[in-house]
Amino acid sequence: MATARLLLLLTVAAAAGSCCFGEETMGYGEEPAAAKAGGVACGSWRLAVEAHNIIGWKAVPADCADYVARYMTGDRYQRDSDVVINEAVAYAESLKLSGKGKEIWVFDVDETALSTLPYQANHGYGVQPYDSTSFLQYVAQGTAPALQPTLRLYRRLLQLGIKPVFLTDRTGDQRAVTAHNLVQQGYCSWEKLLLQPVGLQTSTQAFKTGERQKLVSAGYVIVGNIGDQWSDILGSPEGCRTFKFPNPMYYVD
Ligand SMILES: [Mg+2]
Repeated sequence: MATARLLLLLTVAAAAGSCCFGEETMGYGEEPAAAKAGGVACGSWRLAVEAHNIIGWKAVPADCADYVARYMTGDRYQRDSDVVINEAVAYAESLKLSGKGKEIWVFDVDETALSTLPYQANHGYGVQPYDSTSFLQYVAQGTAPALQPTLRLYRRLLQLGIKPVFLTDRTGDQRAVTAHNLVQQGYCSWEKLLLQPVGLQTSTQAFKTGERQKLVSAGYVIVGNIGDQWSDILGSPEGCRTFKFPNPMYYVD
């Protein structure tokens, strides 16, 4: 009996040991011990970034380059995105609309409605500091793919009668290519597409807060607001509920 119990314990211990292959391989396991930035595990760094405890960072820590690349290209990013969108859809479906057609949902564009991952893949997934020239060249191609979870939310909102508003720190001279890109990727209609004026010197958060205030002043009710940056969702009026889409690749204030 004692021998059988020992064998059972050894079997369980071996099974537990087999879980140590990293987050992307096992889904819920611990990341490799080597994946640390300044002594902080990269998974902990990402969590602190998403929770807005680490702010104002300029680039992904070099030691977390592989971690972020694997996160963005593996299924964890997809699953994390689905959790956000599932909550947003459930919330939207719970709303009692006024019938006046004034309820809107604010969407950010880059890394929320559209993905710049093809660009990021060629620039280290955030390890390299932001380079506006090459990024604007990518945007000008108009080929950014839709983030499918967000497209799912968008389509459900249209069914429910909640009107989408796109609010982006892309500038006004990018209106045509942005509109074309959105339509090509399935975002076929919107109440408004609001872009930042060329040469505006304020922060993204200040610009977006001001635009949301104009919407509220015009009689709209912002029932939801989703973005990959905290600067998308901070600042009154934020909207009745806000949703933070995952993005560990860059920070915009
Ligand atoms: Mg964004």
